[in-house]
Amino acid sequence: MSALDFTQTSTTRRVGDDERAQILADPGFGQHYTDFMAHARWTAEGGWGAAEVIPFGPLQLSPAAAVLHYGQEIFEGLKAFRHADGSVWTFRPEANGERLQRSARRLALPELPIEDFLASLAAVTVADEPWVPEATSEESLYLRPFMFASEEFLGVRASRTVDYYVIASPAGPYFPRGVQPLIVWITDEYARAGAGGTGAAKCGGNYASSLLGKNEAAEHGADEVLFLDSETHTSIDELSGMNVFAITRDGRLLTPALTGSILEGVTRHSILRLAQDRGLEVAEQRLVMSEVLEQVSSGEITEMFACGTAAVINPIGEFRAHGGSWTVGEGGSGEITLALRKELTDIQYGRIPDRHGWLTRLV
Ligand SMILES: *Cc1c(COP(=O)(O)O)cnc(C)c1O
Repeated sequence: MSALDFTQTSTTRRVGDDERAQILADPGFGQHYTDFMAHARWTAEGGWGAAEVIPFGPLQLSPAAAVLHYGQEIFEGLKAFRHADGSVWTFRPEANGERLQRSARRLALPELPIEDFLASLAAVTVADEPWVPEATSEESLYLRPFMFASEEFLGVRASRTVDYYVIASPAGPYFPRGVQPLIVWITDEYARAGAGGTGAAKCGGNYASSLLGKNEAAEHGADEVLFLDSETHTSIDELSGMNVFAITRDGRLLTPALTGSILEGVTRHSILRLAQDRGLEVAEQRLVMSEVLEQVSSGEITEMFACGTAAVINPIGEFRAHGGSWTVGEGGSGEITLALRKELTDIQYGRIPDRHGWLTRLV
């Protein structure tokens, strides 16, 4: 049972039926927002309270709100999927709720109880049910819970007032023209996280520090940037917002071990399970970049991919760095990569049985 009761304060929709239908015909990603959002506030004196579902719109925030100066902010990302019978489901939300708690601990923010996190997702999705697209291919309603320091105070300490919101945004297929392999730039200039830092927390600051690396990637014609460990600049951490996997010719699935500077993806964890189910040997270990590139060149590594909620699985077709470029396999989308992607999305959209109990019904 949820302690917070996210009651809806108004049922007036912001967007009319025709406009919504037009948006849902081609929503893109992160461009359009629904009618409502969930909100709760935490204070050091009273704990969590003031839960409500309110119209989506601008926030009122003091210019001295701590988040604007010291970056005390965390977020989550998950999707609501429309199944063929009209019902709406989400994928492993407890894992996201637990991760939000871990991120909160690292950023000295208050932990939101898992039941309240789940209640907030359900409240928004119920209020915004008409915004959940029919899934003709891979449409979804993207849910973005986030929490930040809202106290009006310029001293440096953990905020004594914190606001939590869930906003929602309809999303079209990530790959409207079929799965496109990534070109990945390996930066030797920047790192996203260091030992003892916030790399394992899903916080805005990690993204702020990744942007220049992404720009550097774009300057080299690449889609994404790969960060190495900050200490030795030799082993693979992850991309700016996706975890990394390699598949070997002899059927092993490799991914960097969680060292504290890598974000523990829910997609990453799910892929490890599905791969084990398929009889692949899985290993979480240190992956030395130079060795991986040698094995890519020799054909020992046949496929590589990145993964996260938005793209699910995105094949890596090529690496680029100051020292050269390396084509993975044939440079396209690997067979096992695509099979894992299909299986995971088939579970999410209810097209095959949910044998791990990963789905939670929202509507
Ligand atoms: C969110 C995120 C991921 C992917 O996590 P999922 O739970 O699979 O969506 C990977 N890396 C970073 C840095 C992230 O912020």
